[in-house]
Amino acid sequence: MIPPAFEYLRPTTISEAISLLQQHGDGAKILSGGQSLIPLMKFRIARPAYLVDINRISGLSYIKEEGGFLKIGGLTREADVETSLLIHSKYPILFDTARVIADPQVRNMATLAGNLAHGDPANDHPATMIALGAQVVATGSQGERVLPIENFFVTLFTTELRHDEIITEIRIPIPPPRSGGAYLKLERKVGDFATAGVAAQLTVDSAGICQKIGIGLTNVGATPIKAVKAEESVRGKKIDEASIGKAAQLAADESQPSSDLRGPEEYKRGLVKELTRRALGRAYERAAK
Ligand SMILES: Cc1cc2nc3c(=O)[nH]c(=O)nc-3n(C[C@H](O)[C@H](O)[C@H](O)COP(=O)(O)OP(=O)(O)OC[C@H]3O[C@@H](n4cnc5c(N)ncnc54)[C@H](O)[C@@H]3O)c2cc1C
Repeated sequence: MIPPAFEYLRPTTISEAISLLQQHGDGAKILSGGQSLIPLMKFRIARPAYLVDINRISGLSYIKEEGGFLKIGGLTREADVETSLLIHSKYPILFDTARVIADPQVRNMATLAGNLAHGDPANDHPATMIALGAQVVATGSQGERVLPIENFFVTLFTTELRHDEIITEIRIPIPPPRSGGAYLKLERKVGDFATAGVAAQLTVDSAGICQKIGIGLTNVGATPIKAVKAEESVRGKKIDEASIGKAAQLAADESQPSSDLRGPEEYKRGLVKELTRRALGRAYERAAK
């Protein structure tokens, strides 16, 4: 399939990219890894007249800890996340997430920022970023905005980003000691989007009492879901089979799946319950290490 004709623009700075986006308005789209946008163009679902390719902007690919945050640059690829020693040693939930996205070819190109900007509830990083309490740094003609992830996803394929804003960084608060997280996804076959996925991140004290918790759900609603009631049920409680079981049930109740080729609604709710139970269990194991 060949996409419709478009004009290809290659800015080398953020300000140049922003002015091109402003100049061409709704007709222009940012191109980063191209792993979502190009397929949409080939299916003629998206028909941008201008593609603003941001890949030649330098200084946007990094993973580092700074000022109390893990900072991931706007052009950091999934493959960089997957192979980062920092991620492996301190942020296994991010490794869990990156490694189940598509296949190595897609991960070599796809960016974490693009995964969020696309606003697809089936994408895997949104739930993980919700669990981690991430912030999205958006740079546009009016300067920089820091957007909390819990308000970022507005509806299907729609985020809080303005037309001329580029995600330049993702910030994750560095978890305190005794923290752990996990992302689990069920897919029909390797490389597929999730039938359902669950991200859980928690911090416990020395007695195993939950101090902090985040739970995000993948592909069981029009947007990625923050399972607020499930989180509340565990906060301040000892992490054990009973509290995990209760949270798992609440997360299933909070999910809003629809029946489709990946399975009926009821099955997906059951899946959310089981994945939440397992993700919380693994997160706790990692926190207690
Ligand atoms: C075969 C296949 C299987 C896949 N399976 C999975 C999967 O299992 N799980 C999963 O999570 N994803 C999956 N994906 C999607 C893939 O991970 C996404 O392509 C990627 O997450 C989007 O990032 P990108 O850099 O490729 O963005 P692009 O395709 O370049 O852009 C996507 C959208 O985001 C916008 N955008 C991109 N970067 C920015 C930015 N920095 N600031 C503002 N807006 C921006 C673009 O304008 C566009 O609207 C799959 C893709 C393919 C092709």
